[in-house]
Amino acid sequence: MSYKFFPALALTALLGAFSTVLSNAEAKPPKRVLVVTVTKGFRHGSIPVAEATTKALADESKGKFTVDYARTDEELQSKMSPAALKGYDAVFFANTTGDLPIPDRDAFLAWVRAGHGFIGAHSASDTFHGYQPYIAMLGGEFRTHGPQVTVTCVVEDAKHPATKSFEQNTFDVYEEIYEFKNFDWNRVHGLLRMNAHPQTKAPGEYPLAWCRREEKGRVFYTALGHRDEVWQSPWFRKHLMGGILWALGSEKGDDKPQQRERSTPRF
Ligand SMILES: [Zn+2]
Repeated sequence: MSYKFFPALALTALLGAFSTVLSNAEAKPPKRVLVVTVTKGFRHGSIPVAEATTKALADESKGKFTVDYARTDEELQSKMSPAALKGYDAVFFANTTGDLPIPDRDAFLAWVRAGHGFIGAHSASDTFHGYQPYIAMLGGEFRTHGPQVTVTCVVEDAKHPATKSFEQNTFDVYEEIYEFKNFDWNRVHGLLRMNAHPQTKAPGEYPLAWCRREEKGRVFYTALGHRDEVWQSPWFRKHLMGGILWALGSEKGDDKPQQRERSTPRF
């Protein structure tokens, strides 16, 4: 049978194909996030809460993303190989520490640059010290922390998915607050900062959360996430949810460094 003699049939076939394309576009499969909780240095007691929180966020996302976990060296080997990474849209280092035994760290960085997402919470910046490409990708490196303290967080971007849920421009949190090295405001888009040093209270602009592009990749980092109570707080969950959705490319947000004079944080 030829469509030449049955133009109406040809049109029907075309419309059918078109509507199939449309319905496929509507029903996008969930994106896949690999949550890594392996530690080679300090192991945070909040890791089980972090794992439960990421699972709850995936459930709350209503099909936007699912989570899988790499909790052991063996799971890192099998789930972070260059071949296995092709099955994920983002990797989330949730309180990782030290030199993680991933199969090929250069290939992992190349995977991020190719347009995938990286999310880091708290001691994700206490990971891969000395591996400069990772530190540069993340945008900052843990240096030290003092005693837990109440600090005032300042929202830097009230429109970004990771920070738009904050109703006030400032809020207080009791947390273990990281001090950084290898951090430069000109390389990141600020999301949360402090206007005083967490311990000395010296004025300045001290980073707490930021995002940046690593070539085509999207990198979101929050220094918060030491205490169980932080992971369990509705505000932190919304902060993380927005950061994850932004890193996945599911929600839009500015990622350019803010064009204004910044005082270099003096930790
Ligand atoms: Zn900590």
